[in-house]
Amino acid sequence: MSNFNNFTFKINILGWWGAFPQPGGATCGVLVTTSEGKFLLDCGGGVLSKYFEHANLTDQFQGVLLSHLHYDHMGDVGCLYYAINYALRVGLRSNKPQVYAPKTPETMWDAVQYPFCDTHILEDGMKIHMAGADITVKKVNHTIECYAFRIEKNGKTIVYYTDTTYDPSHTDFIKGADLLICEATISMGTRHTIGAGHMTDIEAGQTAANGNVKELCLYHLPSDGDIPFMRIRAGSAYNGEIYTPDIRSEFII
Ligand SMILES: [Zn+2]
Ligand SMILES: [Zn+2]
Repeated sequence: MSNFNNFTFKINILGWWGAFPQPGGATCGVLVTTSEGKFLLDCGGGVLSKYFEHANLTDQFQGVLLSHLHYDHMGDVGCLYYAINYALRVGLRSNKPQVYAPKTPETMWDAVQYPFCDTHILEDGMKIHMAGADITVKKVNHTIECYAFRIEKNGKTIVYYTDTTYDPSHTDFIKGADLLICEATISMGTRHTIGAGHMTDIEAGQTAANGNVKELCLYHLPSDGDIPFMRIRAGSAYNGEIYTPDIRSEFII
């Protein structure tokens, strides 16, 4: 176990591609580790393999928060469930993990039910306690029901903000975060997405500036994006530190 004397959160961005992964990578998934346990934010295609590079599925793993039920955010949940089933069977763990997800689309909600996990419906404004962290849930603007997460412990704050359009009315939710993990799905010349329910690199920078956050990590990146260029574009709207997870994927907060 790591030494937690010097930090509250260890954040590992396990995958960061929107829609589909690039070679060797994964779609969306972030591992949050505290002194009291760990959990996942999203579990898209390729994320489980990356998870096993960092951790196993003992009871330290407490659950997964699914922002929404698009495959790039939940595509590996089925395999995660099989791995949980195995971990319970061989005594690696004794507790069911807690899974939070939106209730819609209903066919997808049905697909994330599993006998060896407890599932909970996400709602705007709800509070979740996991791995000693206090998590606030906020509905955001996407093509299907989707939520962002503000995660707080020991006065430190992480905000996970994907997939959504640019919306300054969310500034209070983001305000003062030590780390903002923010989607940037659109850039100059990209054709990865038609754009509905997403924001540009510059809007990600503007979001970070509005919230006066300490650090920004661009996330949910487009397959045809020029990632260093996207970082520069985000920097045209925000003066703080901007990271892209291809360069830095671990944050100690
Ligand atoms: Zn997505
Ligand atoms: Zn989506």
